[in-house]
Amino acid sequence: MDETIRNLVRQRAGNVCEYCRLIQAGQAWARFHIEHVRPRQHQGTGDLDNLCLACGHCNRYKGPNLASIDPVTNELTPLFNPRIDRWAEHFLLSEHSILGVSPSVA
Ligand SMILES: [Zn+2]
Repeated sequence: MDETIRNLVRQRAGNVCEYCRLIQAGQAWARFHIEHVRPRQHQGTGDLDNLCLACGHCNRYKGPNLASIDPVTNELTPLFNPRIDRWAEHFLLSEHSILGVSPSVA
């Protein structure tokens, strides 16, 4: 991936993981990943509108998934998409935890 694209993704995210809001500057031991929101194995592209900045934990946890079973409704639900979903509409910071407050409806 072109370094210019990587830098644009980092700048757009403000050097914060777009899934958990962890700040890159506090993680000098690990550089955040440029993640494909829609994975390449599901025909995701390397276009800016399909890329996001993710910490290693979030990137590994999400993996190539696009959806999961909502534990409340037991329905297949799209995962949070940082390109189209607003973080504050789906999550809430509570002390040291992130709480899901609504399913993604992308
Ligand atoms: Zn993260």
